[in-house]
Amino acid sequence: MSDQFQRQIYLLSPRQLSPETIAVTFAKTSRSPLTFREIADELSDEKSAEFHEKWVVGYGHASVAEHAVLHIALENVSRLATECIESNRLASYTEKSTRYQMWALGGYHLPREVIDEPQELVFRKCCDHLFQVYHESLEPVRELVRKRFPRREGESDSAWENRTRSKYVDACRFLLPAAALANVGMTINARALEHAIRKMLSHPLAEVQEIGQAVKESAQREVPTLVKYADRVPYLTATQEDLADATAKLGLDQSSEPLRLISYDLEAELRVMAAALYAQGTCSFDSALTHVRSLGEVARLDLAQTILGRLERFDIPLRELEHATYTFEALVDQGAYLELKRHRMMTQTPQRLTAELGYAVPKLITEAGFESAFREAMDVASDAYQEMVGWNPYVAAYLVPNAFNRRVLMTLNLRELFHLCELRSQSNAHFSIRRLALLMVELVRQVHPVLTAFLRLPEGVHWRGIEDEHFAQV
Ligand SMILES: Cc1cc2nc3c(=O)[nH]c(=O)nc-3n(C[C@H](O)[C@H](O)[C@H](O)COP(=O)(O)OP(=O)(O)OC[C@H]3O[C@@H](n4cnc5c(N)ncnc54)[C@H](O)[C@@H]3O)c2cc1C
Repeated sequence: MSDQFQRQIYLLSPRQLSPETIAVTFAKTSRSPLTFREIADELSDEKSAEFHEKWVVGYGHASVAEHAVLHIALENVSRLATECIESNRLASYTEKSTRYQMWALGGYHLPREVIDEPQELVFRKCCDHLFQVYHESLEPVRELVRKRFPRREGESDSAWENRTRSKYVDACRFLLPAAALANVGMTINARALEHAIRKMLSHPLAEVQEIGQAVKESAQREVPTLVKYADRVPYLTATQEDLADATAKLGLDQSSEPLRLISYDLEAELRVMAAALYAQGTCSFDSALTHVRSLGEVARLDLAQTILGRLERFDIPLRELEHATYTFEALVDQGAYLELKRHRMMTQTPQRLTAELGYAVPKLITEAGFESAFREAMDVASDAYQEMVGWNPYVAAYLVPNAFNRRVLMTLNLRELFHLCELRSQSNAHFSIRRLALLMVELVRQVHPVLTAFLRLPEGVHWRGIEDEHFAQV
């Protein structure tokens, strides 16, 4: 075989080529007979910019921009702002953890909207109080945890602290408001980034708009053409405003149900099984479904066993599970929501964070004798929120601590449900999201018991048990 037809596999290194040049190199293979190396050798940053201007911007061949990947460091952004920053499905994030780190006094964002306004004092007093109480809670809760998990023989101070820290910080974090600052690392391609910047620039909060602008400016140093036209989107801003007006008439519904399964297809399990057969066969989907419908119980269980029975610990189930989807409405504390939102594959519609849907009290807080200070802090936050919500509900949300409940609508498929429920029901997950994951399992098993029997869950745990063990109030 001549060299020309030899298989070649190699990296285009970002150490040698800019992200825009890598993107053009790949894009040009569509029309050029040259190798990728040869194409790259002919390019310069200027030629790449011209190409993107013509093809990506001019002709809308936007997928080319996916080959330009950026790593963006965002420091001291509020946890409320991270909701928009991390709302992109096609991006990767790692954020400073409220489970493994502690927040210093004053570590909150002061929004531009309140500066030099009467609301500034309300805002500062509320956040300072919450941070102060958070700090005061750490020692008594830590003491209690240390009594329950005493030092092991030969264990060093730091090892003991590492083993017990997340247990007490997990409870104290309920006091931190959404204004608390975080650091986030984001890896994202230029196409997804352009959309992300547009969303940020169209956001109602000044902080998020400023972050969007700063991200755009930083990104333009690496990809000068690809995010150049990312601007505020009137469609987003005006539509959100009109919808907010329209929904205001519907008022506030109180509800105490932590999770409701709003919709699912009764036959979804059969469709997943039919799709799995279809994938390996030559029949039509109708024939596969008719066949699965005709199977008796034992034969259906056998088929389910074939589809999922060989899963080992780190195996991902077949893609055909994505043919079953579920919509849930959850009412979870903000801390749990912040973890839930990281499951990018599903569609999530959270409502604005409010102080009107009640709050959770972790049992450790109560047992450490700290409940009255905790409840007083919740009252302080709730009062400050009420004082500000009529003026600006988006800014008022900064004051809401992690303990407060949040409503979120989510639609996910069975494959994602397997991932989320298996990961988040493990003993090392935070108890709030463990409770939610196990509750999801219970509701889905009631309607689709055959495939969900294969979920790899820890033995002997139930959401009720988690709730009783960890919450004085939900
Ligand atoms: C023990 C533990 C500690 C954690 N600590 C932190 C922490 O300190 N800071 C922090 O920010 N987060 C932390 N997380 C959250 C974690 O980083 C994930 O964001 C979160 O668990 C969502 O899971 P996921 O990314 O697997 O799933 P989803 O977003 O739900 O995605 C589902 C699946 O799709 C695939 N997938 C999705 N996107 C990609 C992609 N871009 N590339 C490749 N495959 C993809 C993967 O198979 C993934 O499992 C922690 C999670 C755990 C379990």
